Parts: sequence; C-alpha cells; structure tokens
Amino acid sequence: MLYKTITKSDFEHLIDFILEQNEIIAPRKVGEKPDGTPIHQFLPIEAFSEMDLDYSKTEYSAKTYFLPFRENLSTWSFGDGGWKQDIQYRQKPRAIIGLHACDIHALLKLDKVMLKGPFPSPYYKARRENTVIIGMDHEPCGSGFCASLGTDILTHGFDLFLTDIGDRYFVAVDSDRGFRILSQVPLAEVTDEDRRRYVRARAAISEKQTIKVHTRNLPTLLDLTFNSAVWEKWGSKCLSCGACAMVCPTCYCYGVKERVCMDLASASKVKQLHSCNLVDFAEVAGGHNFRPTREHRLKYRYYHQHRGFAEAYDEPMCVGCNRCGDTCLAGINPPDVIADLEQENP
Ligand code: SF4
Ligand code: SF4
Repeated sequence: MLYKTITKSDFEHLIDFILEQNEIIAPRKVGEKPDGTPIHQFLPIEAFSEMDLDYSKTEYSAKTYFLPFRENLSTWSFGDGGWKQDIQYRQKPRAIIGLHACDIHALLKLDKVMLKGPFPSPYYKARRENTVIIGMDHEPCGSGFCASLGTDILTHGFDLFLTDIGDRYFVAVDSDRGFRILSQVPLAEVTDEDRRRYVRARAAISEKQTIKVHTRNLPTLLDLTFNSAVWEKWGSKCLSCGACAMVCPTCYCYGVKERVCMDLASASKVKQLHSCNLVDFAEVAGGHNFRPTREHRLKYRYYHQHRGFAEAYDEPMCVGCNRCGDTCLAGINPPDVIADLEQENP
C-alpha cells in the first residue's frame, strides 16, 4: 500500500478529471425525513458540487451498480430457420466515489460469490473490472454495527481510500489504476504531522462506534437456537415485503425468467433480484414451499447471513450497516434479534 496526501481543492480537480472519462456515481442528498434527517442515495453526478460526501449512510447500497435489480442476460431472435443470441456486458467505465468501508467490504464479499465461486458471473465481472472505487472514511452512522464485524476499517478492495485530516486528505493507494488517477493532481509525501493527524482521526472515529453486537460466536449461537421462540416472536412481525434484502449491500439471491414474444420472433432471459423473505422464495414445482411461514423465512435470512455464509467463506455475509433494520417497517433489526438470541441461554 502506498500513502500520499492531497489538498481538498486538488481532490475537486481530481473529480473533474475523472468526470472527463467516466460516469461518476456518488452520494447525493435526495430529500429529508420528517425529523429533518437527510436522505442520501448513490446516483450519477455531473459536477463536484452535486456530491455530498458528508453523508451518514445511503438508503440503498451501491450494490445496484454491480447487481442491478433487473438485468437482461440474453436476447434471442429467430428467423430464416435459425436463431441469433445477443449478450451484452457493461463495458462503459465508471467510478464510484465516497463509498464507506462497510460498503467496500460488502463488494469484497460479493466478489467471493460472483467472481470466485463455482459459477462466476461475467455480468458482475464486467461491471466490477470497469468500476473505479474511491472510498472515504466517515463518522459512524447512527444505527450501524460495523465495528462489531470488523468492517469499519479496510486494507484492500479499493483504488483510493481517503481520510479527512483537516485541510487535506490522507490517501491510501491500493492499485496501479488508483495511482495513475491520483497522479493527475499534485501529490505530497506523508509527513510526521500527517501521520499523527491520521491516527487521531481514526481513533476519534473508532471512539464514536458505540453500538456493540456480539457476533464472534454467532454461528454456534444460531445452531443452538434453531428452535428458539425468538424466531416466532420476530417472524410474526415480518411483513414478508423483501425490503431488507433489496437495501442490503450483500444479499444477492435472484430469480431468472424467460420471456417469449407473442409473435415468437424473439425471446429474452431476465434476471431479477429476489428475497428469501418473500413467500414464494422456497416454493418448488408442484407447489410445495420449503419455508411456508414468515418465521421460517426470517430465520433462513439470518442463518444465511451469519451461519451458512460463515461456514462457506470463514466470515459472515453481513457487514453491519443496518440498512435492513432502518428500512424495516416492522422494526426488525439484527442487533435486537441477536440480543434476543443471546438472552435465550440455550
Ligand atoms: S424483516 Fe422487515 S423488511 Fe424484511 S421482509 Fe420482514 S418486514 Fe420486510
Ligand atoms: S443484513 Fe442488514 S446489517 Fe447486514 S449487511 Fe445486510 S442490510 Fe446491512
């Protein structure tokens, strides 16, 4: 890893340079909640002034730029006694600016499934390879528990990662591509004073991480509480709306549909994100549903996040952003569910 510093005005010039050749996605303020809390989303920008890097958390994660809610996998056209298939991968260069550490961790987890799993996705791969990641340190968001999962800090997974140290940014460089981009503006070597400021900035952020969730022994706890009444308690509240999986930066389950035009001249295969909380998620041919109740489906989501994924990849799938808890109309959130399981004393 290489470390440099740049001034804040040069960071603005850097964004202008990136904009010349890339689409930029960045946090933008899109509204306010009734209590005045700003609402942010990752959206395309056309000027530095449209970004709001002083954001706490976006409602949706940046997952949508790698795993869109719906995408066309393949189109066929039929004629002259034959057929043609058309497959398009997204090649256009893109940069995502201002991703926080937990959201970059989420991409690294998706990589394990989408790039390194037994069935790598060329659609995901094309987007990932053509996207520059410029992350940024931030004050802890109100409800996240990323520190409990170790996703509040980062050592790789980005091109550039910035920490505010006053009048300048302390920049970690983790790729050749990142260094080439950064070299477009004047760089300074890290001084002793910069180092002290960086350490103080990181310590101040860590001290503000107040939400603690006991996650270290969670796979075993989940094994021991499989039949707990806690699942009925929270499952009975669940509306089976699937919103938690849509906003989650790591949920990747999907369904595939084939559509044939009425004139039989063309057809397409479309992938659409799914949610294990939706009633038909585990329904199979013949109508049998392996998880017919809300309790079973909610439990399955927690077991996949914190048990099944941990067994397969030696780490939980969850990064502790608590977007699922923030968005759930029924008030279901991981810290409360996990605390209840701990109280069970199985
Ligand atoms: S846990 Fe909440 S957000 Fe998720 S499906 Fe149930 S009601 Fe919807
Ligand atoms: S399960 Fe919830 S807290 Fe964990 S990564 Fe997904 S949205 Fe964030």
